[in-house]
Amino acid sequence: MSGGTSPGRYRAEAARTLTERPGVRAAVTSATDHSNTNRGRAYSEIDSERWRDWARDVKSHVLTHLDHYLEQADASLAANGVRVHWAETAADALTALRGIVRERDLKRAIKGKSMLTEELGVNAHLEGLGVHVREADLGEYIVQMLGQPPTHIVGPAIHLSVADCQRLFHERFGTPLDGSPDLLAKAAREVLRREFLAADLGISGANFLAADTGTIALIENEGNIRLSTSLPRVHVAFVGIEKLVPRLEDVAGFVQLTTRGSTGQPIGNYVSLIQGPRRPGEPDGPEEVHVIMVDNGRTHLLADDEAWEALRCVRCGACLNICPVYRQTGGHAYGWTYSGPIGAIIAPALLGLEQAMPLPFASTLCGACADVCPVRIPIPDLLLHWREQAVDAGLTSTTEAVGLTAYTTAAEHRGLFAAGGAMLRWLPWRLGGRALPILGGWMQERTAPQPSRRSFSSLWKDGIE
Ligand code: SF4
Repeated sequence: MSGGTSPGRYRAEAARTLTERPGVRAAVTSATDHSNTNRGRAYSEIDSERWRDWARDVKSHVLTHLDHYLEQADASLAANGVRVHWAETAADALTALRGIVRERDLKRAIKGKSMLTEELGVNAHLEGLGVHVREADLGEYIVQMLGQPPTHIVGPAIHLSVADCQRLFHERFGTPLDGSPDLLAKAAREVLRREFLAADLGISGANFLAADTGTIALIENEGNIRLSTSLPRVHVAFVGIEKLVPRLEDVAGFVQLTTRGSTGQPIGNYVSLIQGPRRPGEPDGPEEVHVIMVDNGRTHLLADDEAWEALRCVRCGACLNICPVYRQTGGHAYGWTYSGPIGAIIAPALLGLEQAMPLPFASTLCGACADVCPVRIPIPDLLLHWREQAVDAGLTSTTEAVGLTAYTTAAEHRGLFAAGGAMLRWLPWRLGGRALPILGGWMQERTAPQPSRRSFSSLWKDGIE
């Protein structure tokens, strides 16, 4: 972000540029349509209302007793032979990682998909230490080759068309320009196999961490996470402190609900339950497992009387898929790791409200996100919560504030309101063929409705007298 440019203006300009990229809108809309259809079917196969109540209650219970469950998880992990590192900030997390890398002289990392590692900037940090890092999820691998961040918390490359990928693979691996998706996947698999075998450090996130058994649960479809966490001699899992569930048996319900909300699958193709390093006599597994427990603003969010509910998120992506804004823009336009509705309600706490602007306003408040969320996060309410705070902090536009103050004053004075209405009915929407300045952007794409010649109250009176 250049000096002197506000975060809001920077984001708005970036969003405008990115939404103009050819093909992004079509690719994102098509991919999210597919996910929405599958989620609808998957929810209809179960008593999804009851499951969602259960998931909301379990996560709310953990979050309101987080100190207890964190201590329990710490003890359970240690009993399993896992080394636990506590990180209050992103810098703390990276320092812990650096210590592990330096002490063991690790040189090559293979990484399963993890949004927390994106949030922390793990790849850039490792590269700065001279460690070669390779993303192992196919979508992540593709965006890594392009030097882009993921565009979606579940589908990192959904903004790309098949033709985009065919061009990229042709340039990188010499596959035919009309190579089938299977052929492209085969080319990537050959490269990644070598990377798996050469890596001495495996990195993952965690979908859930069971406090009672210290089990790290990971869901995936490609098998890359399983290889990343079992082949290299050292495995480091980055775990947000909100990922806890009380009991291992809770994981079974959460895994199914997450995949139903995400891709519409009853369960992911692979679910790994990691219980510590390789034990004597076991044929595979890492020699060391480290868990870096990350706060990085989460306790700040937890301390907010309303916004804390956002911490129930299981990162399924359903709210992105259904959001009419995200479906048009894709994730890059949001200018931050977590895009879509969930990103807009956690950014103010994790980044700071000013840095997060105008994300809480990047929504139509249609409520579709809350309808599909598997853990019943009241996303529209939380968007309004952050908007109120932004107004109180003077972070919204002066024009908007003046307009709303004028409207409030008029609405409280009947005569003024009637006079204002009469003036707006009289005022033409276009002056000399040009849109009124305040409506300029809106009217580039639309035809303004013609105002009624009579006021609502006069029509109402006629109707009832
Ligand atoms: S807010 Fe709800 S719908 Fe959105 S990613 Fe999180 S769990 Fe899924």
